[in-house]
Amino acid sequence: MRLILLGPPGAGKGTQAARLVEKFGIPQLSTGDMLRAAVKAGTPVGLQAKAVMEAGGLVSDEIVVGIIAGRIQEADASKGFILDGFPRTVAQAEALDRMLNEKAMQLDAVVELKVDENALLSRIEKRAAETIAAGGTVRADDNPEAFKTRLEAYRAQTAPVSAYYASKGELTVVDGMQPIEVVSAALDQALPG
Ligand code: AMP
Repeated sequence: MRLILLGPPGAGKGTQAARLVEKFGIPQLSTGDMLRAAVKAGTPVGLQAKAVMEAGGLVSDEIVVGIIAGRIQEADASKGFILDGFPRTVAQAEALDRMLNEKAMQLDAVVELKVDENALLSRIEKRAAETIAAGGTVRADDNPEAFKTRLEAYRAQTAPVSAYYASKGELTVVDGMQPIEVVSAALDQALPG
């Protein structure tokens, strides 16, 4: 199962990806998680990405495409993967198509979680509050200012990715404003088998 989850920050991609990891036994490939790990480890990629991530902007296509190209070749991804937070630009989607073609791999589903923008900020605030309550560290970009930039990046650069897959007849849109179990059921219906 090779699946892409699309949707703005706070749409519930991470929640659904975690559930599907359990269900299918395939890894969640979150470029955001991988970049945060690189920042924490102070790798060259991390050093390059840190400031732009904290401000809520997008890291270069070259960096994230490089990360994903390596990651999908690892052994645990041989039976499939869930892409969460990638592709975020049409150039990334095209690069992914080329990578998959080269390996004679196909996508099984591209699902967009559609949510009302007005609900997103409160979802992000809730995520930050829950993280604090659990004794964790709030993401550096989970604040209203960076969030505004993330939403702008989504509108300008990532919304066209949905159009890209829709034009190829590959996109399924799921209403992400419904209760989690209803979203889960709708998403499961969009997946083959
Ligand atoms: P996320 O955890 O998916 O919300 O990603 C957090 C941040 O990492 C984003 O705001 C971007 O700065 C960066 N990032 C993650 N994935 C990508 C991507 N595919 N392209 C560019 N930047 C990304």
